[in-house]
Amino acid sequence: MALMAGVIHRLDETVVNRIAAGEVIQRPANAIKEMVENCLDAKASSIQVTIKDGGLKLIQIQDNGCGIRKEDMDIVCERFTTSKLQTFEDLASISTYGFRGEALASISHVAHVTITTKTADGKCAYRASYSDGKLKTPPKPCAGNQGTQITVEDLFYNVTTRRKALKNPSEEYAKILEVVSRYAIHNSGISFSVKKQGDTLADVRTLSNASAVDNIRSIFGNAVSRELIEVSCEDVALAFTMKGYITNANYSVKKCTFLLFINHRLVESSALRKAIETVYAAYLPKNTHPFLYISLEIAPQNVDVNVHPTKHEVHFLHEDSILERVQQHIESKLLGSNSSRMYFTQTLLPCVTASSTDVVKSASSSSNQGTGDKVYAHRMVRTDSRDQKLDAFLQPANKSKTSGFAAVAPEDSSTNQSCKNTGPQDAEMKDCSDLETALESPENSKESKLMSPEALPARKRLRTDCDVEMEEHARQEMTAACTPRRRIINLTSVLTLQEEIGNRAHASLQEMLRDHSFVGCVNPQWALVQYQTKLYLVNTTKLSQEMFYQILIYDFGNFGVLRLSEPAPLYDLAMLALENAESGWTEEDGPKEGLAEYIVQFLTKKSEMLKDYFSLEIDEVNWDEEKECFESLSREYAMFYSIRKQYIMEESDLTAQQAEEAEAETRSWKWAVEHVLYKAFRTSLLPPKNFREDGNILQLANLPDLYKVFERC
Ligand code: ADP
Ligand code: MG
Repeated sequence: MALMAGVIHRLDETVVNRIAAGEVIQRPANAIKEMVENCLDAKASSIQVTIKDGGLKLIQIQDNGCGIRKEDMDIVCERFTTSKLQTFEDLASISTYGFRGEALASISHVAHVTITTKTADGKCAYRASYSDGKLKTPPKPCAGNQGTQITVEDLFYNVTTRRKALKNPSEEYAKILEVVSRYAIHNSGISFSVKKQGDTLADVRTLSNASAVDNIRSIFGNAVSRELIEVSCEDVALAFTMKGYITNANYSVKKCTFLLFINHRLVESSALRKAIETVYAAYLPKNTHPFLYISLEIAPQNVDVNVHPTKHEVHFLHEDSILERVQQHIESKLLGSNSSRMYFTQTLLPCVTASSTDVVKSASSSSNQGTGDKVYAHRMVRTDSRDQKLDAFLQPANKSKTSGFAAVAPEDSSTNQSCKNTGPQDAEMKDCSDLETALESPENSKESKLMSPEALPARKRLRTDCDVEMEEHARQEMTAACTPRRRIINLTSVLTLQEEIGNRAHASLQEMLRDHSFVGCVNPQWALVQYQTKLYLVNTTKLSQEMFYQILIYDFGNFGVLRLSEPAPLYDLAMLALENAESGWTEEDGPKEGLAEYIVQFLTKKSEMLKDYFSLEIDEVNWDEEKECFESLSREYAMFYSIRKQYIMEESDLTAQQAEEAEAETRSWKWAVEHVLYKAFRTSLLPPKNFREDGNILQLANLPDLYKVFERC
């Protein structure tokens, strides 16, 4: 049998181009990545993407970058036309994403492309459409803002096989969201949005003033963002730097999320992924993975920048050595975050002394390290405060009324959502706004000063750590309002009081407060918190008093003024106070009226100092010694702000309306205790040593001990 030789003939040029284009652009997300990179190259600060049918029907990208000159519009979609590279040598030092003018050309071979663009000095915008790399209609003047809008319609309209392979628009849309959100995280400072055509709400949206961590939070949720550790290392010899955020050993999920940018380009490197996961294997439960966002900058001559748009897997020179350095750095970071998870070997029962030296690494973090052993139930630590709290067991009879409040997830996994359901939070916020105001400004100032000798952990700003997401402008207003020009206080008495607070501080207690999980309120005075495997009963009143005292001392002379609409009737108040049995007034003290007069005169005499430093009227103050005076004033003032028993009312005595009000009040103080006070205790309180001896922080139970008890049963 004779075989007939096939006839070789040259393919039609448009077919060749189409095949080549199909290699470059395999799915809508590839086109979007290229176009987003073009926007970034054009120095845009806002990039908005609109999608229809997973990008198969429409992709529209609008930026506010430099625009394209009218003269260049004829050739932008031709192959190998670029404004970014002129000579081959330029390749080695290229700092832009694009360099070979292939993307737009490829897209125009497999879709209908329309470009509307205006440069800064252009008189108007121009619009032109393209097909097969060629200008279809010449640029027409039109209205438009500076920047470029590129519309890609009917992707793969002329490549039937490809169109058929991409049957699932929602899958394509998901991929688009993934690509854009990763670029958004890597390019904080630039606002991104992606939405479906016709939708008003964006599915991904970042703001230009948000940080990378803010963006991670809004895209991946709080569960990830609150466990992030910053990484950063540099090696001059290997000519690379690494920056990014990775999750600590508290966070583990089924699937690894790895955002890798090499020289600002989103890429993949399975070698690097493996290297990092090997480090985590010693810290995370089996078959669970971390979240990683890593940006590597490698000397351009050491990476092949000429990577194919669809081939994201990259290799670079000195790969093994660089991977090893990265591993070392990550290991050190994980170790650091791990060894800070400590708990007391001693119980915190009254009279038991536990110093900061007798803490050991928690068994849950050290015993399974390296061996990958499983954590036994009795060593398991609940760290997710979204887990059930004490309230869950104490549902009031009228469920519907409280459910709105119960729905306020303290750490909402999605910022987008938490922005939307602010209703009940707003209401509750107002109720405790006085507490917050008291907390707000001192926190700013304490940041730098409240550092004890034992290098206590860095303090976070309360506001940024707040459960309640605020509108950006409100946040800015608050910050502006709360950071007045500070007055420097050099009074020896105040500085001594500050020093005393520092000396009294107990590092382990502080650690415990910082990392506790709030369990629930017992009553206004007592609350339960968990730390590691232990349950503690904490005296909220005493802790809040101490915190407000510290705030007063650390923010001495820097308070805002609460102006009363009507001046306080000092005489009447003094009379009221004297009527109260607590005042200890006896006949011997002379007539109350006379005393009240004296108090008014006295306060008026001291009004300058009170106004200057505190602005409050006080009793039991030692006016003669400056230090004692300030201390006792602050203590009294702190008492005024602290949360106390008075909130409790006898239920039986209440009318229906009063009961309702009481219930609202209970919700309000509970909210304030959990979300304002305990939140602030994490970072704004240096707990004095005596708290562990006088029962203000009392250990009730320890999981391993409980297990021992149950084993015997
Ligand atoms: P490359 O990015 O490799 O240069 P592209 O095909 O992606 O090639 O783009 C071709 C050219 O079109 C770019 O060099 C740039 O001059 C211009 N261009 C494309 N998109 C934009 C944009 N969003 N803003 C300004 N210029 C753009
Ligand atoms: Mg490009």
